[in-house]
Amino acid sequence: MKILANDLKRQYDLYAPEYEKKALEVLRSGWYILGSEVKSFEREFADYIGTKYCVGVASGLDALWIAFRTLNIGAGDEVIVCANAYIACVMGITINGAAPVFVEPDEYDNIDADKIEEAITPNTKAILAVHLYGQSCDMTKIMDIAGRHGLKVVEDCAQAHGTTWQGKMCGTFGDISCFSFYPTKGLGAFGDAGAVLTDNEEYAEFVRMIRNYGSKVHYQNEVVGANSRLDELQAGLLRVKLTHLNSFNEERCRLAERYNTEIHNPYIRALKTRPGSNNTWHQYEIHSPYRDELIAYLRSFDIGTIIHYPIPPHLSHAYAYLGYKQGDFPITERYANDILSLPFYNGMTEDEQTYVINKLNRFKTAE
Ligand SMILES: *Cc1c(COP(=O)(O)O)cnc(C)c1O
Repeated sequence: MKILANDLKRQYDLYAPEYEKKALEVLRSGWYILGSEVKSFEREFADYIGTKYCVGVASGLDALWIAFRTLNIGAGDEVIVCANAYIACVMGITINGAAPVFVEPDEYDNIDADKIEEAITPNTKAILAVHLYGQSCDMTKIMDIAGRHGLKVVEDCAQAHGTTWQGKMCGTFGDISCFSFYPTKGLGAFGDAGAVLTDNEEYAEFVRMIRNYGSKVHYQNEVVGANSRLDELQAGLLRVKLTHLNSFNEERCRLAERYNTEIHNPYIRALKTRPGSNNTWHQYEIHSPYRDELIAYLRSFDIGTIIHYPIPPHLSHAYAYLGYKQGDFPITERYANDILSLPFYNGMTEDEQTYVINKLNRFKTAE
């Protein structure tokens, strides 16, 4: 049996006629940029998350840098972010000229909120709370610290569509929250897409201006902006997918529950879920001290895996200019060496999961 690490075709097949109907409708409409699909998606997604405004943009990375630009955070400013973040989180900070200040993750693989205060300097302007792998950061502690130090909070919800902290939706805590709809995300488009959400009307207006060449009125450009528009086709397809988001999340919870209860191997540790957070299981992460051996072992049975992420941002060539070296963030570096995403996707069959579980349970333990 061949098992892919992720198989997006399965999710498509589940509701193919709905996607095809919507795609044809948009193609035949003759209107492709900033029309009624984008407007409707922005309304529906803001309602789903529970914010006043949603502004569609071209990607999750664009959502991030536009958020920091909106908050006027740039050269000379510092933003606190977990050291084990995805590289795009850090680029969202540095594109505007601001500097990332890294904080190690805790045992739940998200930022260790107890280490944030020691990272604050007179230049700190914001905390970027990245809700990695489908579960929430400790938003109670983060909002408390931000409040006491006068810092802005941006939430990166690219892996947390529908994730909650103490029953409240991620994306409703910070000043601005950023979503990606890259095809592998919990709510995935059929191409690149993203969104910026906020309760602040001025911020929403500013984002709307930036995404469209810095213009509010056609051909009147107030600032140097970008072309970062969510297109009608993606917005239309996202509207269809949004109606199924809860059931996609529930299905992944069932799949994760099976891995949680049926994987028994002393060399494999499942990701812990933080009390107070639910988990929408963006991926299914494990840690293993024999990670690379495990990858090769699974590959020998045609089972695919992915590493999220093999090189932490502080050791990435792109950030060599920050001057970090191996050993600066030991927990993050250990995670980069022992984390692994197992095969996991909507539409994964019972047989496929059984096959993976059986192989995992025999790793290094079979006679
Ligand atoms: C995917 C992702 C991004 C970037 O989103 P794109 O749409 O690929 O630009 C940012 N942050 C996190 C946590 C992500 O997982």
